[in-house]
Amino acid sequence: MFGLKTEASFDSAHFLTDYYGKCENLHGHRWRVVVYLQQEELQESGTMRGMVLDFGAFKRAVREVVNSLDHTFLVEEGSLSPATVAALESEGFSLTFLPFRTTAENLARWICEQLQAKGLPVCQVDCYETPYNCATYRP
Ligand SMILES: [Zn+2]
Repeated sequence: MFGLKTEASFDSAHFLTDYYGKCENLHGHRWRVVVYLQQEELQESGTMRGMVLDFGAFKRAVREVVNSLDHTFLVEEGSLSPATVAALESEGFSLTFLPFRTTAENLARWICEQLQAKGLPVCQVDCYETPYNCATYRP
């Protein structure tokens, strides 16, 4: 079994709905994302012979997904009133609506699914919301 690992980070704001504590308030994180690939065999021909995947392609794919969240406000669908959304958008803020509570666990799964959709053999995604707290998703 062979593996590759790379990481990227993004900055975004969020809050947790139905949560009673500090995270119910709007706040930001520098999210650190570590992605692991796993593959039984190395590629046998072409420019990636002897590799799981070219690191350049791997990093580009991770950056593409992560950049789609960078410097946006991550909002769980339905968690803000339409008037609030309209007010934020009228101020020019960039909002990313996601169909789940914006926890590190759910973000790790969402990032994993986006990378799998690009054909990457992802076996684990770690999503750090602080340097000390990390959620892990394994498909
Ligand atoms: Zn948070």
